[in-house]
Amino acid sequence: MTAARSNHWWILAGLLLGALLGVTCHHLGETRPELRAGVSWVSDWIAYPVGQVFLRLLFLVVVPLVFAALAGSVARLGQPGTLGRMGLRMGLFFLGTMTFSVAMGLVTMRVMAPGAGFSPELREELMQAFAADAASLGNASAAQAATTPMARANLVLDMFLPRNMLGAITGMQMLPLIVFAVLFGLGVGVQSDERRQRICGALDSVTDAMIAIVGWAMRLAPAAVLCLIFAATSRFGLPLLARLSAYVGVVLGLYLVQLLVLYPALVAMFVRRGPVGFMRACVPIIATAFSTSSSNATLPTSMRVCERDLGIRPSVCSFVLPMGATVNMNGTALFEGCAVLFVAQVFGIDLSLSQQLLVLVLCVLSAVGVAGVPGGSLPLLMIVMAQVGVPPAGIALILGVDRLLDMGRTVINVMGDVVTAAYVERGEAARARA
Ligand code: ASP
Repeated sequence: MTAARSNHWWILAGLLLGALLGVTCHHLGETRPELRAGVSWVSDWIAYPVGQVFLRLLFLVVVPLVFAALAGSVARLGQPGTLGRMGLRMGLFFLGTMTFSVAMGLVTMRVMAPGAGFSPELREELMQAFAADAASLGNASAAQAATTPMARANLVLDMFLPRNMLGAITGMQMLPLIVFAVLFGLGVGVQSDERRQRICGALDSVTDAMIAIVGWAMRLAPAAVLCLIFAATSRFGLPLLARLSAYVGVVLGLYLVQLLVLYPALVAMFVRRGPVGFMRACVPIIATAFSTSSSNATLPTSMRVCERDLGIRPSVCSFVLPMGATVNMNGTALFEGCAVLFVAQVFGIDLSLSQQLLVLVLCVLSAVGVAGVPGGSLPLLMIVMAQVGVPPAGIALILGVDRLLDMGRTVINVMGDVVTAAYVERGEAARARA
């Protein structure tokens, strides 16, 4: 039994205990103000630093891991045929699940309409309370200001091919890193056999060393997950959560449908594996995604679990998971669609069918560009809102509860990548047998 397997249940216990303690402490702080300082002290001096050590260990390995794993995998797969075949299966699955997610979100929001009947007083109160936070999501205005064709082209080019590639990579921008790793891998692929083997061997060693570091970090996981969840939940404004409960309930409900119904169904139908065992093996991935709210920080854990516990071959993990952590965001796409419709409903804006179709397309496209970090989708969400005539400042309505939703959507994002990797693996295994 591997370390990841054996501490499954400890991680889950840490998650539940952290949430329970955090919510209780928040409640105590609200009802007994003399305890508030003590709760903040525990959160700031114990929970936060312990959680950060875990989080930073994971972030530490992301760049070398993505580069070495992806470049090695592309170099080894070598022939454009294999890459194209895997890329096509992966791309279609990504696109299909993201489109389905947004459509499901839009239809449910239309039917349930949690924003209709929202009191104008509460709307003003929230707009004022979170106006500064909304204004600080500066990227959105920069993007909105890009009105000339050249400025727009630069915006897109900067996402994939920034002028300062290394600067972007050290800033943890993943799309440029992926472009660089794929090009490097293709470059290695055209070297002589002997040289290619040598470089691939070196890249494999880097990947394995990073996975070993993740193994050590995962030993910390039960305590760290407890601390991260405690630090987040002890700050949750429960009264705010209650006032936005219709919106939060719909979005969390959709996440649950996705996690407990849609993904297991995809595993049974397309991967042909028992969904219960599959999902159980993913507990460390789910707990890491939930507690860190970051697809990037969860990537090392998913690589480890997919290779060791789900038996997905390294060449598939190394190709699909880094790509997925960067471009495949089912939970984010779903959330963006729900958020746009919610804000529109609160402001009494009725979006036409064509505007809703535009929301669907924009949510899928923007989810591709979202950074896999906490709150990464918020600047792009404001751009989507602006494009369909919903006031971007209206994002202030939902900012106060977004941390909880971010935890949930990151789980859905990452699990979408894992299911896709298992699907691509099935195709490769069938080819290998043929
Ligand atoms: N936190 C999300 C992730 O890392 C991105 C987002 O939707 O804000 O996957």
